[in-house]
Amino acid sequence: MKVAADSVVSIEYELRVADGTVVDRSPPGEPLEYLQGHGQIVPGLEREIEGMGQGDRKHVVVQPEDAYGARDPEGLKVVPRAMFPKGAKLKVGQMMAAETDAGQEVEFRVDQVTDDAVTIDLNHPLAGEVLTFDVHVTGVRGATAEELEHGHSHGGGHHHHHHE
Ligand code: ZN
Repeated sequence: MKVAADSVVSIEYELRVADGTVVDRSPPGEPLEYLQGHGQIVPGLEREIEGMGQGDRKHVVVQPEDAYGARDPEGLKVVPRAMFPKGAKLKVGQMMAAETDAGQEVEFRVDQVTDDAVTIDLNHPLAGEVLTFDVHVTGVRGATAEELEHGHSHGGGHHHHHHE
């Protein structure tokens, strides 16, 4: 069968940014399984996988607008150094997470550090990047009713978090 909406697709992939650095890949022998058409992977890649079959390989270039979006200058925020734990070593480029007053977890990258202020970048680390995927479809099957109801696949043997 070919990949269509509501297919459960298994892919091996390697993701590179423009300078050729590999920033993500599926672990050897552990393809990523996802439900096609439910926004679980970046839109530009999902669109290109549509119609592929088991064993097919493709080289896909995805522009930022079809991936993690453009970098938003508003995503840069200056916060007092005192908001970080006293002993915390802050390294430029480091990813960190914090909880907002509303209890929501936000991830950010440390952009600049001075004695009393830290500039943080709330943009997705891959925002603004042209992404190149080498993708190999290792399996395609129809989704179960339960998978469709949940909006994600229930992969064999993989840990799966079941929400009520
Ligand atoms: Zn589920």
